[in-house]
Amino acid sequence: MTEHGRHTTSIRSRADHDGADQDGADHDGADQDGADQDGADQDGAGRESGRPSTGDGVARRSVLTGAAAAAVLAGSAVALPGVGVPSARAVPPPPRRRRDVAVFGGGMAGLATAHELVERGFEVTVYEPAYLGGKARSHDVPGTARGGRKALPGEHGFRFFPGCYQHVTESMQRIPLSGGGNVKDRHLVNVETAVVAFDDAGYAPTVAPASIMGFVEHAGAIVTLDNLRNALMTGLKFVVDVPPWELAYFVNRELIIATSCTERRLGQWENQSWMQFVKAKGKSPAYQRYLAGALTRALVAAKSHTASARTIGQIGLALATSATGLIGHYDAGLVTGGVDRILNAPTNHAWIDPWVAYLRARGVRFVMGEGVSSFQVSGRQITGATLASGQSVSADWYVAAMPLDRLRPLLSPDLLRADPSLGGIRRLQDDWMVGIQYFLNRKTDLPPGHIAALGTPWALTGLYQAGAWGGNFARTYGDGKVHDVLSIDISDWEKPGILYGKTAKQCSKQEVAREVWAQMSRAMNSGGRRLLRREDIVTWSLDPGITWSPTIANATPLMVNTAGSHRHRPTADTALTNFFIGGDHVRTNIDLATMEGANESGRRVANAIIAASGSSAQPAPVYPLWELPMLEPFKANDRDRYRAGLPHFLDF
Ligand SMILES: Cc1cc2nc3c(=O)[nH]c(=O)nc-3n(C[C@H](O)[C@H](O)[C@H](O)COP(=O)(O)OP(=O)(O)OC[C@H]3O[C@@H](n4cnc5c(N)ncnc54)[C@H](O)[C@@H]3O)c2cc1C
Repeated sequence: MTEHGRHTTSIRSRADHDGADQDGADHDGADQDGADQDGADQDGAGRESGRPSTGDGVARRSVLTGAAAAAVLAGSAVALPGVGVPSARAVPPPPRRRRDVAVFGGGMAGLATAHELVERGFEVTVYEPAYLGGKARSHDVPGTARGGRKALPGEHGFRFFPGCYQHVTESMQRIPLSGGGNVKDRHLVNVETAVVAFDDAGYAPTVAPASIMGFVEHAGAIVTLDNLRNALMTGLKFVVDVPPWELAYFVNRELIIATSCTERRLGQWENQSWMQFVKAKGKSPAYQRYLAGALTRALVAAKSHTASARTIGQIGLALATSATGLIGHYDAGLVTGGVDRILNAPTNHAWIDPWVAYLRARGVRFVMGEGVSSFQVSGRQITGATLASGQSVSADWYVAAMPLDRLRPLLSPDLLRADPSLGGIRRLQDDWMVGIQYFLNRKTDLPPGHIAALGTPWALTGLYQAGAWGGNFARTYGDGKVHDVLSIDISDWEKPGILYGKTAKQCSKQEVAREVWAQMSRAMNSGGRRLLRREDIVTWSLDPGITWSPTIANATPLMVNTAGSHRHRPTADTALTNFFIGGDHVRTNIDLATMEGANESGRRVANAIIAASGSSAQPAPVYPLWELPMLEPFKANDRDRYRAGLPHFLDF
């Protein structure tokens, strides 16, 4: 994995940095002010040649970077009409194109940035201290490969690619595979069913079409608000024990988000938690537990009592809408109609590894085992970065694509002075969400699809993986005994469990594994079904990011979209001229800490660098989170009401 030691010219030892390093001197000398490259170069050319600038920047630049410059540098000056031939000594070197990008972080955001920029002629170096793919990676479970098979595949957490994702899928479409085709077409598959279990409620788990979360049957007819209301009511009917009037109330709250103008969403709903917004207090336990609470957890891994109502309402609407598969606006190539899509192989095999191979082939350099420890700031410019190893990095553009918890300590007083708005990053919160895999000696009878164990204390969701991966799992992975993988995400680490009465954070590694199995079994082995059997477990693997020395720690917490957090989140470009921020914490259209948000942020970073560098390259596509056009008149009406200080017309 490591390319450490094959360092590029843009990384220098501290001694080099302080000394007369030619490369560095050139870098620092060019465009100190970070102003548009073309303008700065024109002036420089005019002054250095001893002649006033002609003002004809384009013509002059093309001369200097074209045949004349090449000839002069080769020692054979040629005369061009109307241009005096200066002596070779007096001619400045061709203007250096400001194309050198240092990306710190090789997760979704960093890889997306690198992808967009390298395809547009930039020179990109990615510095990654741990794993390429970041929180979206999969990994080999150590010591499990036997008899020529591959190691058992561990996931940081199983992957869910809802139908409303467009950025991730568009990137996948541009990752070629060695055997032909691309990642999206060969490895992303629709999942037709979902299993919904209700913890401790006595019901058998429901194996339902994934489209139950949407409303395929109604989609063509969603042309009025009442159609949408009916469709949502139908789609949510699977939630048990909720009285019809409460379901109607819940749907009405969702319609409020759907028909609110942007200003109200940001000014009013952003500041309420989802639980407050759907007025869970005083409603039935099923309303509180499943509809308002667990569904939010299961679908977007957010705690409903802290998550922003705007974020949850918007993504809920997008999930439901995309499930129709009939929405013309979505690029049919990117959104294939399913509410739920998964990969048909371990994430790294299917996606991350081919992506990295493609980027490498295009010229992206990966420096592994290295992370940034500080940025040097002068005025409104980054002048260099120092790696944890003490080495220095010099580039034209600096991208901080590391997670929130690693970005916070890099916010030095100099950086905050240059852009005080970055101080908001310190107010953002992260939480624990971690994957565990159970390797089973028996293939499940359930069709491939996600499992939502609604109401489980540790907010468990799952996915049986082998079914979708095809082939013979036991012959491919492990020691030949494993036939399936049940991959489970643990989203609540602070509620007491049912076996030990302890929170996940209070448990040992083994206790976590036993407790998760017990909770999942209680939800799944209910109503006369027995879907999970302890004796099927061959082995299990908890994400290695969780460690217990001396106390429990999580190396990879996940940013959470808490109420009011939007204003504290950074944008991809900053007030510094050459500093950009990527990651799932950046403001994006999807506005949720996901691979989609991280990918969109990487594109926004790339576009900001394209603009700042004066490049004529086309920007990377950035897609809206699509909403039904028939909602527009309602939003316009609400804008008038909001400006007039009136409540939303459905908010009664
Ligand atoms: C268990 C779990 C399951 C999930 N499931 C889904 C899902 O199904 N669908 C979905 O869309 N999203 C899912 N997510 C969320 C999604 O994985 C993340 O939002 C996304 O991958 C974040 O990408 P990122 O690039 O912003 O950050 P990261 O993935 O955290 O990548 C940042 C990278 O920066 C590196 N880094 C750290 N410090 C430094 C430094 N000082 N210098 C340089 N680099 C540094 C890190 O090592 C890391 O590789 C899940 C998250 C978790 C935790």
